[in-house]
Parts: sequence; structure tokens; C-alpha cells
Amino acid sequence: MTKKKEIFYPLQKGEVSIYCCGITPYSDPHIGNARPFIFWDIVRRYFKQNDYRVVYIQNFTDVDDKIIAAANEEGVDWKKISDRYIATYFEAMDALNVKHADTYPRVSETMDDIITVIQGLIDKGFAYKLDNGDVFFSVEKDPNYGKLSGRKLEDMQAGARVDIDNRKHHPMDFALWKSSKPGEPSWDSPFGKGRPGWHIECSTMSLKYLGEKFDFHGGGSDLIFPHHENEIAQSQCYIGDEHSFAQYWLHNGFITINNEKASKSTEKASTVKNNFFTLKDILAKYPGEVVRFFMLGTHYRSPLDFSEERLKEAQKSLARLQTTKDYIKTLLARPEKISTNLAQTFRDHARMIYQDFCDAMDDDFNTALALASVFALSKEINVYYQNVVLEKEIYDPANFEHVAGLFTKMTNMLGILEQEVELPEDGQLANNLMDLIIGLRQEARAKKNWELADEIRDALKELGIALEDMPNGDVHWKRI
Ligand SMILES: [Zn+2]
Repeated sequence: MTKKKEIFYPLQKGEVSIYCCGITPYSDPHIGNARPFIFWDIVRRYFKQNDYRVVYIQNFTDVDDKIIAAANEEGVDWKKISDRYIATYFEAMDALNVKHADTYPRVSETMDDIITVIQGLIDKGFAYKLDNGDVFFSVEKDPNYGKLSGRKLEDMQAGARVDIDNRKHHPMDFALWKSSKPGEPSWDSPFGKGRPGWHIECSTMSLKYLGEKFDFHGGGSDLIFPHHENEIAQSQCYIGDEHSFAQYWLHNGFITINNEKASKSTEKASTVKNNFFTLKDILAKYPGEVVRFFMLGTHYRSPLDFSEERLKEAQKSLARLQTTKDYIKTLLARPEKISTNLAQTFRDHARMIYQDFCDAMDDDFNTALALASVFALSKEINVYYQNVVLEKEIYDPANFEHVAGLFTKMTNMLGILEQEVELPEDGQLANNLMDLIIGLRQEARAKKNWELADEIRDALKELGIALEDMPNGDVHWKRI
């Protein structure tokens, strides 16, 4: 709201309440859908580790034009579509280590409360009903309209297109209730049969589950206008308090796919096959933690470009941290030995690194910087491991357990290293093995064993690897 970082003061000491706009379940969720939920999962983990009690609410917009369209296309009930894609959503979130919300209210199950709020807005003079049963919110009645997006009503009126609905009092007035059309799901209400507009559900649900005031509201930055602006207008006019509703707003940046906006790519999904961006496709090929790790590398407010190349890089980096986790396991299983000064220095370093990590997370959830601390501690642990295992230095269980505990605290807050991540094809190992094979072939050639040298070359070719004899005598290899 203030367009800058603010110090967070919770409404209730030791408690944090969060509302995040959820999905409209009409198709398989794509990579862009995952970003807000991974981010808010980290926020929740952060507060929980800092001993806050966290209440997190996230809705499902299960009554919507897109769902109805998908149902008509398939010739099935709308509920079948929303249930199917809610199930797909949960599968994807489980794979991504995203913990479940405390409640997932659905529009279809919150209808009575939604109707109560709409009626309240009519009664208080903030909404008006048309003859056909449509109900609109009157933006001119709200003196604060536009305060989140920074837009002014006069400018919006001037910029409004000509083809606007002339039954509305102001072009920016938005639907709270839509009268029923034939073949569409509808519910009875005092305004007639129909269904709610999109924005009203979030105002109703946050009020129902979190009360008139709550700490955080989140969602993608594309929701700032009109969705969040309208949520504020509805809630604050209904409650009658311009300080009610969300106290802090956090919006994540959008995701581009190979530098193209995710929503655009989704539109193309029906016409272009093999577009690699639905979570289903990605998670079939990469562990969920790799996707999660990839997102952590960029601050949540910044735009993020998704490509398979970057996913592969993330997989390699995560595998490095996995090695540290394995070292920790090995060391913790060792019999006790006496302490040394070396271990004390190691512990002091670890505490400093952990402090850097906390500072980064305290500063508007700077996960990219926090990851740098995770890698710094990973390096310290790896060196310690080498010292103990290879150099036979004395192992100090007390200090090591402390350091290992800090490492786990960091990775738990980020939600990584919780799954057994499959190691990517190890580039370094492949290089070493190729050096070995090329060396053996060179040896064969030196002994004029041309037959064996050719055999090695042909066998590699069958594996999809070509050898190149360079003029200086070196041999290079590449994939065919
Ligand atoms: Zn919402």
C-alpha cells in the first residue's frame, strides 16, 4: 500500500493471519501459478520458526466463466471440472513441499456468506441492483477507491472504453452478483437467481475466517488492479472502517517462460503442443524441490524467467546441498571424540553465517541472499567433513551437532532438502570418466593397437558421443 518496505507489527502478539488469493480450477496449473504459493509457504515457515502461530487462508474460485466453458466443452458438470483441477493442484503443491492452508474455502460452499455481504453493501448504499438482477458495486461511493493501485477515478473514467455497459453508474463499477443465464449454475438470492462476481468471494472469505482485520494479503502483482483494489473497496465499505481488511500487502512478480509472459503461453497451450510449462509436465521430469529451489534464487517481487536450462542449473546446485546433507548424516553417525579448538572456530563461523541468513529473510524475505548463506555453510561443513574423514582430525560431536542444526533450520525454512532429490546427471563425473576412456584409447594408439582404439571410438558413438582428434594431439568429446 505504501509502495515501500514497512516494519511488520502483528495485530495480535505472536500471531500472523494471512489471506492469499488461490486458483480458478479450470485447467492444469502452470509454473506461474506455483510462484505465490511457494512464496507464501516460505513466509509461513519463517513465522513458524520465529514462534508465531500462523493462520493461512487460501480460496478456490470454483464458480467461474472459464470452469463453465470447460464443462460445456467436455459435456460434464462444472463441479467435475473444478474437483478435478483442485485435485491436480494439491498433487502439484505436495510435490513442491507446499504445506496445506488451514482452510480452503470454495465459492460454492460460501454462497450464503457472500450473499449476506452483497446485501449489506446494497443496504449501506454502496451497491445497486439492476432490473435483470445484476448487482454492481458503485466505485464513486468509496472515497478511497484506487488507493492500492494508485489510480484516480477521474483518469479511469477518461480512459474507459466506449463499449461499456451503459446500465452502470460509472464505467469502473464491477459486478457483485450476475443474474443467471440459461445452462449456467445458479443459486437463489434476494436479488434473484445468479452467481457471484469474482472479487466478492475474497472479501467474504477473509472476513469469515480471519475477521475484520488481518495481517497479510498476497497474490500475484497482476491482481493489484482490479481484483485487490475491489476487494479493499468492498471490505472497507462493508465493515465501515478504512483501516480494516489487510494491514500489509505482498505481491509477487510474474513469471515469463523463455522470456514470454506465462499467461500468454497458457493461451497458446491449446494450439501449441509440447509446451513445457504445466506443473504436471515439469514435475514428471524434475523433483518438486528443484522447481522450488529455482524460484528461491530470485526475490519474490522481481520478475522471473523460467526455462528448462535454468531448471537444470537449479538441479545441479540443489544436488550440491544434498551432498552436504549426506555428509552431515555420515558425521552424526560417528562415535564421539573429544572437542578441539578447530571445532569451536567452525561453530563460530556457522553462527555468523546463520545470522546473515536471518538478516536476509528479515529483509522482505530475500531468499536469493539467504541461499548464499546456505551455500556458505554448506561449504564450511564440507571442509569440516574432509578434515575429519580424510585428514583424520578429531571429530567434535557437540559443536558439529549445533552447526548441523543451524544448517537444517535454514533449509527447513526454505523448504528444501526435505525430499530425497535424485541427483542430476553428474557433469563432473561424466568428464572424469571421459578423460579415463580417452586416456585408455590414447594408450592403445600409442601401442599401435588400432583395432582397440577404433572399437572404443565406435562404442562411444553408439552411446551418442563423438571423439574429435585435435591437431595438437588432444582429443575432445561431444554429444552427437
Ligand atoms: Zn482474491
